[in-house]
Amino acid sequence: MNKSNKLKLTQAFPRLLHANKETNTFFIECGDGWYDLIYKLCSDIEEVLTANCTTDDDWPHALQVKEKFGGLRFYISRSHKNAVSMPAPGLVEVRPISDVDAIGDLIEAAEAKSFDICEDCSAPGKLYQESWWHVKCDACEAIYRKKREEFLKG
Ligand SMILES: [Zn+2]
Repeated sequence: MNKSNKLKLTQAFPRLLHANKETNTFFIECGDGWYDLIYKLCSDIEEVLTANCTTDDDWPHALQVKEKFGGLRFYISRSHKNAVSMPAPGLVEVRPISDVDAIGDLIEAAEAKSFDICEDCSAPGKLYQESWWHVKCDACEAIYRKKREEFLKG
């Protein structure tokens, strides 16, 4: 993903996507075609967290966002506080995220969707299960194949 898109996502969801101090962005290892998909997923996750009155301290954060076996992978932390149901004396009540399953479902749905979206340009795509699995539209696949042929010819 290009720097500008990474920066846009990091700035839109700073609690979910912790910026690296050197780059000011969260490192995302996939193509720009999935920008909208990731943006929507982060936005949906934050909606669930907001509905559960999650505190900033207890906000889960993404550990890794990348492409694997052709599809999107979105790994998220689970704060230990999520399991706390009884507040200790003197502490502000921390509500457990009752919708942790809902977050898991959102991630699963977005990951499934990525198999139909070209990772390069976001047009409808399909999964090519070759030596390197990838999801591309017809146009991007044609470009990829041409480059690959040229590379193999040397
Ligand atoms: Zn494409």
